[in-house]
Amino acid sequence: MSTNKMNSQNSSIIQKLSSQTIKLRVVQPPINIKRLLIGYIDKYKGQAGIICVRSAEEGNALATYLRARHVNVAVSCAPDQMKDQIFITTNLANFRKCPVNVRFMIHISSPKSLGEYLLDIRSVKNDLPCEVILYFKQANTKKQWWTINKRIDIDNEEKIRQYNGLQSVAQYANTSRCLRKEIARYLGGDCHPCHQCSNCLYKGELDDITLESQTLIALVKLTHGQYNKISIAKIVTGSQNQRILENGAKIYE
Ligand SMILES: [Zn+2]
Repeated sequence: MSTNKMNSQNSSIIQKLSSQTIKLRVVQPPINIKRLLIGYIDKYKGQAGIICVRSAEEGNALATYLRARHVNVAVSCAPDQMKDQIFITTNLANFRKCPVNVRFMIHISSPKSLGEYLLDIRSVKNDLPCEVILYFKQANTKKQWWTINKRIDIDNEEKIRQYNGLQSVAQYANTSRCLRKEIARYLGGDCHPCHQCSNCLYKGELDDITLESQTLIALVKLTHGQYNKISIAKIVTGSQNQRILENGAKIYE
């Protein structure tokens, strides 16, 4: 690996990512975020995980949702109170002395920059394998750009710095290259492909949509092919479209 342009902090991040215990993932819509969270919580049942949110309101709403599903959740708790459970936080600084191994960390809101994201990754204790997941919605980045643009309390130079931060996250989330290589490139270095990030594993990580496919095929069969694909989509999403209601297709929902 080339480290001639990298400082020691950047080198330590790449070293951590090269340990093979950090498994980088990027997930984008149409994956449902709540289904994604429940999936990881079930996968690592009884072990610790971190969910990073943008605001306290978002964190409290998510905690209520998860507690209703009997998930043991702590919101912004102190390091000495940590045990194997799900932590919801807006600030990863609390986790820099985290005494428990975290098996997954999910950012459900985009970080302000890739640099900030890497600081979060650095904070995770990972003696055991840990999946580091970024749930990225391009539409949210556009909203963040819009919010920055409207601000009157910062000058143009600061706006450009914040735009560039968002752009670095978008570039990381949208690349088809190895995610570890993308981080190394961002830090001014290079490394070998990790062979275990979501991009490296892309061909082997196709979603199982057997059930959804079977449902759609059965629906087409039940309606004797009288609807086109747009109407079928409306039926499965519970549309109140007049023609669908008139033809009684609502019974197929
Ligand atoms: Zn990779």
